[in-house]
Amino acid sequence: MSKINISSHVIDEFKNSLRGQLLLPGSSDYQNARSIWNGMIDRHPALIARCLGVSDVITSVQFAKKQGLTICIKGGGHNIAGLAVCDDGLMIDMSLMRGVWVDATNKTAHAQAGCLLGDVDRETQIHGLATVLGFVSNTGIAGLTLGGGFGYLTRKYGWTTDNVLSMNIVTPEGKLVRASEQENPDLFWGLRGGGGNFGVVTGIEYKLFPVGPEIMGGGIAWNIEDAPKVMEMYHAFTQEAPPELTCAAVLRIAPPAPWLSESVHGKPVIALFVCYAGSLEEGRKIVAPLKNFGMPVGDIIQPRPYLTQQNILDATQPNGRRYYWKSEYMPQLDPGIFTKFMEHGDKLASPHSALILFPIGGALNRLPEDHSAVGNRDARWILNITASWENKEKDDANINWARKAWEDMRGFSTGGTYINFLSEEEGEDRIHAAYGDNYDKLVKIKTKWDPENLFRMNRNIPPRSS
Ligand SMILES: Cc1cc2nc3c(=O)[nH]c(=O)nc-3n(C[C@H](O)[C@H](O)[C@H](O)COP(=O)(O)OP(=O)(O)OC[C@H]3O[C@@H](n4cnc5c(N)ncnc54)[C@H](O)[C@@H]3O)c2cc1C
Repeated sequence: MSKINISSHVIDEFKNSLRGQLLLPGSSDYQNARSIWNGMIDRHPALIARCLGVSDVITSVQFAKKQGLTICIKGGGHNIAGLAVCDDGLMIDMSLMRGVWVDATNKTAHAQAGCLLGDVDRETQIHGLATVLGFVSNTGIAGLTLGGGFGYLTRKYGWTTDNVLSMNIVTPEGKLVRASEQENPDLFWGLRGGGGNFGVVTGIEYKLFPVGPEIMGGGIAWNIEDAPKVMEMYHAFTQEAPPELTCAAVLRIAPPAPWLSESVHGKPVIALFVCYAGSLEEGRKIVAPLKNFGMPVGDIIQPRPYLTQQNILDATQPNGRRYYWKSEYMPQLDPGIFTKFMEHGDKLASPHSALILFPIGGALNRLPEDHSAVGNRDARWILNITASWENKEKDDANINWARKAWEDMRGFSTGGTYINFLSEEEGEDRIHAAYGDNYDKLVKIKTKWDPENLFRMNRNIPPRSS
């Protein structure tokens, strides 16, 4: 249980200075507020400030600094390493700040940093607009954007951060500043990939693009026996795919989903999740070779609202299960990886685990490596090995499965890795791998903006000591 060495009078004063709530262990909602997506993480902050606005964020930062408390920041709570929650510190919980303002004329949206992806998609889709967000709608925009961000629109429009116009951030001194190409450009460079290292982001302004509101998308699956042929087809199909098309491959045990034939429930399948973010007419032609291939055991690729495309995978990622991931960027889709997929797909330690390939090549490769902190402009694919299970007793079996699969496939890597997919144990070498040559510039920016490393519950970039 958490310990705290601050008098109740001082805590009461802090509580009364907030517009939002202050939760202590034992308060109703404390358990709910401290819990995050990954059930492996069980930490107890001393205090949780549920901020209702920027002034609450400023007050919280100043309080934590004065009292010498560790700060953690909770956006959507979806970080695999559990970086949203610390023991014995102050959690700045942004989850009540979920406003979104869309300027349809200028195609921009300003979103408060506690938004989930679905919040932004819902508001922008009213106008048939969207920005680049991820595959699961209850992920937080803040963690995703600050680490880079990719999704169904990445091939066409780049990293999420490539489409950020500005951010508002509360610095370690408790000052609100704006970062954009014009204002504090060094900070803006670092925020686009450097995670929560520089302060508490309170709002993000995104560039929007016409998308949908109906797109051609969905999922299609085949028996595992057909996987070698499906993967051969997939390889050829994705080499030719236009940037509007994203087609992710998943090898896993089929859940009892109504769209999958009962004959495969509980058995391994190879599935593709597809989104064509262009005209429906063109989309129909583009996806036809997939729909006509072999004998699918389920096919829900059809015209559908972009919003339903954005939550098609939500049910596979419930809050509170135990999760462990290993991931790499890849420069190309080497057909050699398919054999490895089959091999490790045959040894899954849980029916919820999966091997996943996400194509991301296109727009992001056209910008220089040092355009912003996210880098990795040579990445065209992301391999994610996702172990997911229910019981603690199965931890070793599942973690070992993911590690072995990763050891066996990491040879296909660019050498870079996605900062947002690093599990808890992964250390400094992996943070260096994620940033490559951009690391030194990040240290400079960190040293300028957070010289005392107040913000360190993140993939930390320690400042240079004076
Ligand atoms: C099921 C699932 C699906 C995913 N799919 C994708 C995907 O398709 N594409 C993709 O790019 N990523 C994806 N991710 C990874 C995701 O980008 C990261 O997990 C990200 O950290 C989630 O952001 P969050 O706000 O939910 O995280 P949190 O756990 O709340 O926070 C993560 C980190 O960001 C910091 N942070 C949060 N809010 C702020 C803030 N306001 N200011 C400063 N720092 C802050 C926290 O301190 C912490 O260090 C997925 C993750 C999950 C679990």
